[in-house]
Amino acid sequence: MEHWLTKRAHLTPDLVALELSNDKTITFAQLAEQAKDFATKLYRVHQRGHIAILSDNSLDLAIAFWACTYIQVPVVFLNTRLTTREWKRQCEDADVQTIIFADKYTDSMSSLPVPSYSIASIRMSTSVECPIASQINLDSICSMMFTSGTTGRAKPVMQTFHNHWSSAVASALNLGLMPNDKWLLCLPLFHIGGLSTLFKSVIYGMSVYLLERFDEEKVHHAIMERKVTIISVVAVTCSRLLERLADGHYPSAFRCMLLGGGPAPKPLLEKAKEKNVPIVQTYGMTETSSQIVTLSEQDALRKLGSAGKPLFSASLQIEYDGSRAKANQIGEIVVQGPMVTKGYYGREEANKEAFQQDWFHTGDLGYLDEEGFLFVVDRRNDLIISGGENVYPAEIEEVLLSYEGVKEAGVTGREDNKWGQVPVAYVVTADENVTAEELLLHCQEHLASFKVPKEIHFRNQLPRNATNKLQRHLLKG
Ligand code: ATP
Ligand code: MG
Repeated sequence: MEHWLTKRAHLTPDLVALELSNDKTITFAQLAEQAKDFATKLYRVHQRGHIAILSDNSLDLAIAFWACTYIQVPVVFLNTRLTTREWKRQCEDADVQTIIFADKYTDSMSSLPVPSYSIASIRMSTSVECPIASQINLDSICSMMFTSGTTGRAKPVMQTFHNHWSSAVASALNLGLMPNDKWLLCLPLFHIGGLSTLFKSVIYGMSVYLLERFDEEKVHHAIMERKVTIISVVAVTCSRLLERLADGHYPSAFRCMLLGGGPAPKPLLEKAKEKNVPIVQTYGMTETSSQIVTLSEQDALRKLGSAGKPLFSASLQIEYDGSRAKANQIGEIVVQGPMVTKGYYGREEANKEAFQQDWFHTGDLGYLDEEGFLFVVDRRNDLIISGGENVYPAEIEEVLLSYEGVKEAGVTGREDNKWGQVPVAYVVTADENVTAEELLLHCQEHLASFKVPKEIHFRNQLPRNATNKLQRHLLKG
């Protein structure tokens, strides 16, 4: 297939590819030209192996990324919120031989044992003659991205061009494509939810409004004034946007808020309905190159809390005890499809566990209702088995969070001589007067007795990873 960016620059050279908050814009022709130019400079400093990029969202990052595709080097995206030690380990795990970084990370670079160059210094350097790929080999690795590390050590996921292509096409078949579509990108590009939007832009021929990070004022303003039609959000940012919207309404051209990355709390979905905000719920992961299941807006109310149905080219099953589960029976979510990764880089054990009988085992638990709608229940590793009963921490957390004054809640299992395991809760409260007794009473009202936490601990904060996801395995004491 012809290189996507070259093709796009040929088809719609003057269309705006990226729009920035300082009002700067870059067309597809300019993006392709600048990426090729950067490629000829990058080629001089990069000898072999993979290139890591460490940068917040920026035009430079987009140019550097496409440049890597022109010299056919897989890009490892480093999460800017990690520590130097974590970057070092991820560079080892992903065989990184060169790091390119945004200026603000200069000070951290000296302690990394990998040659590193600032993006600005490469741009100022001289070009060398080098082969610029005219084609894209769909089976090649395009990017490597680490999972969020919520359940343990983050794993490097290999994403081929075919994975990204399939994800972009499946998403378009689901959401449709409008000539005036403009996607607001404020998720980090080092997460798949962010990166996938760059591919959509080039494959669809669609303008993207790129923000360095989520900023509720800027995002609100962009939806109200800058003709944004679609935005991807996670639960926390969605909730902040709804607060900011207050009693207002988004313009009618705004057609979709794609919500993913984690469970969607029901009160949030209800609030969005009240305010007429079109939420499309999704389920996906780094390994599925972004969403693989979505809930259409028409079904949103009827199937409140469901993640929806698999995208057109994807398949999904629930596996229970090695075979296919019945409707409404909880088991492991397993998926198939051209957007599913070929595997984790250099992780034989993890690959063996994840890929069995042609299905990718997500490690998430869920069920399909009679109509085939997916409900994600929890992570397999976090399941608590108490006296032979399955206890899902997410269910207990939801009940705790519904209590006035509880800001955060985390539940994990504690070993117990009688029951095997019992649930124990950790909460952060906004109000010092909230007591363990009243929380227990509230739980007893809403949960079967074996699900009621045996202890409630108050904390100032809960352990979270760089993406702000709760790390239940670190809850203790
Ligand atoms: P790690 O794999 O390193 O533990 P992670 O699974 O959090 O980290 P990601 O790939 O960023 O890394 O996140 C994908 C996970 O997020 C899914 O496997 C699932 O557990 C959760 N998730 C995504 N969408 C939903 C959803 N709609 N409902 C519930 N959980 C979701
Ligand atoms: Mg995971």
